[in-house]
Amino acid sequence: MSGKTILYVEDNEFNRKIVRDLLARTTYRLIEAFDGEEGVTRALAERPDLILMDIQLPKMSGIDATRRLRAEPSTAATPIIVITSFALSGDDQKARDAGATGYMAKPYSPRDLLQQIRTLLPEA
Ligand SMILES: [Mg+2]
Repeated sequence: MSGKTILYVEDNEFNRKIVRDLLARTTYRLIEAFDGEEGVTRALAERPDLILMDIQLPKMSGIDATRRLRAEPSTAATPIIVITSFALSGDDQKARDAGATGYMAKPYSPRDLLQQIRTLLPEA
């Protein structure tokens, strides 16, 4: 049992439940934050192994939060998957520019998200 920790920063409870259910059958441990500021705070305090970052968040956007985490030595290399609104928005490029490791455009299949997580952070 590896118990690698994933931080999911998302303000929408429906989306959080989808990811919670998705990871429930894995060995990943999920922690959650509900806005960009809390996401940065929890990431720095708890050093998750991977971060899922929604792009539209209260207080601080997922782009700004990603940029902040890239500027901190303890999270500079942490894999960050940014969940963008949709492919044509240009958010994928903004996410890359901010230092995201990967991105998923909504609507995405939970299966594809899990595959990307496993690629960046092998479960065992
Ligand atoms: Mg949101």
